[in-house]
Amino acid sequence: MKVACNCGIEMKNARTGMVWLELKEDGTPYQGWSCDKMECPDCGNVVYRLANSPMLHCAEKGFDANLHAAREVGILVEDVP
Ligand SMILES: [Zn+2]
Repeated sequence: MKVACNCGIEMKNARTGMVWLELKEDGTPYQGWSCDKMECPDCGNVVYRLANSPMLHCAEKGFDANLHAAREVGILVEDVP
């Protein structure tokens, strides 16, 4: 699937296998989504393309540990796109 930037350029896959962290309304971690980082080669705009379903859920055992591990290796995306 192609992702077009606002400037009309096709965005390139900058990094795969990242984890996008979805927060609850109160700001606590809710779900982790597998995602790819897409970057516009022209203007540098970045978006994250999420998988169809979350792979981590806060009710699951080990959720905090998984988030921590993802953060440690630099693949956790905590800023909301
Ligand atoms: Zn662009």
